[in-house]
Amino acid sequence: MSGSDKPSALSRYSLTKRVMVTGGAGFLGSHLVDRLLADGHEVLCVDNFFTGARANVAHLFDHPRFELLRHDITMSLSVEVDEIYNFACPASPIHYQFDPVQTTKTSVIGAINMLGLAKRLRVPILQASTSEVYGDPDVHPQPETYWGNVNPIGPRSCYDEGKRCAETLFFDYRRQHDLPIKVVRIFNTYGPRMHPNDGRVVSNFILQALRGEDITIFGDGEQTRSFCYVDDLVNGCVRMMATDADTTGPVNLGNEAEFSMLELAQTVLDIVGGSSKLVHKQLPQDDPRRRRPDTTLAREMLGWEATTRLREGLEKTVRYFDQSGFATRAPD
Ligand code: NAD
Ligand code: UDP
Repeated sequence: MSGSDKPSALSRYSLTKRVMVTGGAGFLGSHLVDRLLADGHEVLCVDNFFTGARANVAHLFDHPRFELLRHDITMSLSVEVDEIYNFACPASPIHYQFDPVQTTKTSVIGAINMLGLAKRLRVPILQASTSEVYGDPDVHPQPETYWGNVNPIGPRSCYDEGKRCAETLFFDYRRQHDLPIKVVRIFNTYGPRMHPNDGRVVSNFILQALRGEDITIFGDGEQTRSFCYVDDLVNGCVRMMATDADTTGPVNLGNEAEFSMLELAQTVLDIVGGSSKLVHKQLPQDDPRRRRPDTTLAREMLGWEATTRLREGLEKTVRYFDQSGFATRAPD
């Protein structure tokens, strides 16, 4: 490389963004932080550790471009950054129903605070929205144009309606303040660093199989979900952030392969082996019957699709849970 081809210190600096990830010590957030650091950015991880853990980012404590801030996004925050990923919010039904008022506050007041910050800084902000905005869908698979079927007063409403209101706020900041917003609707995602006690189906089934306990199928097990491996999801989020200012979404991010809970249980048992039996428990209220993303828009707009097959992703996740020791001890 000739001297003139070398990137100057200044141009290198401009490629390095200061990126804030709220909820960065959580499952998805911590993988996103890893990816952003690997891409050469400075990362400010903001978390109140409600469901996240320092352990999820402990491997980064000595990283020169990583910073960790304990902060609750329902309180205002003043920092200087170039991009914001808003991932803070408990995501599993057990966790978001533990303190439903706080869940709605995190989604709504947290969004107002983070949008206010983005507005002052005039920087792009990406919202981790959810397939739950479609509720128990009567359109299948779900395209972004579907407005959803959500119970506004049920046990899942703090999360579903909180996330719907956050989307409204994002689009109003766009219309009213011309803010560069991005909204991704994330479908069930799994992988290493899922919280072992969050009651989500993938972590439940894997831990039950590793412990030789019964596998708890809620209802008849014929209900379906589409499971996206975490690396695919992070890749989609980063691609969305890189789009031009006119690209707002919402865009679905998920794996189009649809499985029943019985099929998921069987695949986990095939991988783990052991003697676990399937037992049926009561189906939770408002549990969606079917869920599968229509990801046509993500393919067209982002050139993105989830490529990790369920078995491959489950094998990596089983390895993580096996090595973590969570099958035999409580999490830190
Ligand atoms: P998670 O619970 O592992 O992570 C959420 C993080 O946010 C945790 O670290 C938690 O401590 C933090 N947090 C919660 N409330 C906060 C507050 N008020 N202030 C600061 N930090 C706070 O969940 P996750 O699965 O990593 O989900 C991350 C985001 O992605 C959430 O916004 C969730 O709604 C969204 N999402 C996840 C999925 C999924 O399948 N994992 C699906 C759809 C949407
Ligand atoms: N589920 C199950 N057994 C479990 C945990 C969950 O059969 O031990 C079912 C649950 O009823 C739902 C599906 O698995 O139909 C996915 O549940 P999860 O909580 O992971 O995600 P969500 O319902 O938010 O999609």
